[in-house]
Amino acid sequence: MPKRIAKKARPSAAKQAGLQAATKAPKPPRARVPRSAHAAPAHAAATPPPPALAAGAPAGPPWFGSHLSIAGSMVHALHEAQSLGLSTVQVFTKNQQQWKPTPLDEGVAREWCDTLRAWGWDAGGPTGRGRVVSHASYLINLASPNDELWEKSIALMRVEIERCEKLNIAFLVHHPGAFTTSTREEGLGRIARAYARLHKDLPGFRTCMCLEGTAGSGSNLGGPFEDLRELRSQILALGVPGHLVGFCLDTCHLHAAGHDMSSVQAARASLARFDELCGLQHVRVWHLNDSKGGLGSHLDRHDHIGMGCVGGRGAMPPAKGSPAIVQTPTAQALATSGFAAVLARFASLPVPMILETPKEDAKEARGMATTDRADWTNLQRLRGILDASGPAGAAERGADANNRRPPKD
Ligand SMILES: [Zn+2]
Ligand SMILES: [Zn+2]
Repeated sequence: MPKRIAKKARPSAAKQAGLQAATKAPKPPRARVPRSAHAAPAHAAATPPPPALAAGAPAGPPWFGSHLSIAGSMVHALHEAQSLGLSTVQVFTKNQQQWKPTPLDEGVAREWCDTLRAWGWDAGGPTGRGRVVSHASYLINLASPNDELWEKSIALMRVEIERCEKLNIAFLVHHPGAFTTSTREEGLGRIARAYARLHKDLPGFRTCMCLEGTAGSGSNLGGPFEDLRELRSQILALGVPGHLVGFCLDTCHLHAAGHDMSSVQAARASLARFDELCGLQHVRVWHLNDSKGGLGSHLDRHDHIGMGCVGGRGAMPPAKGSPAIVQTPTAQALATSGFAAVLARFASLPVPMILETPKEDAKEARGMATTDRADWTNLQRLRGILDASGPAGAAERGADANNRRPPKD
């Protein structure tokens, strides 16, 4: 099964359009790890490294990853990533709905770090710490005008950073925050001061904090690029070193916030504007999600790659009652989508590109789709864009060729 699909994944754009139009969804990877297996803590030592490393080649970019669950054991997310042929992963390092998380177990941390080291995922990134990403809790609001909530948010952010330090996680992505009853200026100032406090309280920390661009709904900061620019410069002005303060851009959020990502040309222009204001060189992480909401809708609703406003909305009409993931976007639609602009610019760089696309199709698809399958299908679509980008794209991904095989059964 894997070889047959691997061959078919590389035809020309036109051929691929025909292939994809044939409605036949690619075969899924191996069955999902059963729940019971998640609880088994230590199989890191017995697990071979991911495909790219097995061949002795450095696992170069593109660094495709997905937000994966740590249910059962932290290291489970790494093995799930491996089974999907991913080059990185994003996790919550704890239950993201708790203000007071249980302390990190030493054995769990050791197992995680050993696995990262064995796979080379803890080195070679732009900050010297590799490629793994953590997403901070949504409870945190560093812009809050409420002193109690602000202090609690800083305390929880400290825990997030401490866990990243312990787990050798290079990037901590978080939403800037909402100013609620205050003003934009006050909100931005609160966030900058929170950063300064964290830097003072945790001397020597190496985790790169990444301000995520948001859909900009309500009083949430981070929709306009001006918010992100001001934030970074205020934080740096308070003495936090620049290498600790990056950005995370999310294709869904960008489009919903009003930065047109609906075509390759529009996305190029949006990226150029970001570059002018904030500097694309400070983008440390990408979130690759399609957007259910239209341009400027401020709707933070992620869709499968190719099914929303960024990826061309899928050219095949959905069969009645079929889950979203089995609808098939054409290669042509994807190759001219906003994703193509992002990949052209970033696929060759050591920047994690994380899927946060829906996984709930597992329940909707009457046994056809699993979490693995949804992620894997979305991943194939992104890789199809690189295939369609011709020799330049092929050169960019050369080092990652082994990682492009479908997962083993
Ligand atoms: Zn986020
Ligand atoms: Zn995101």
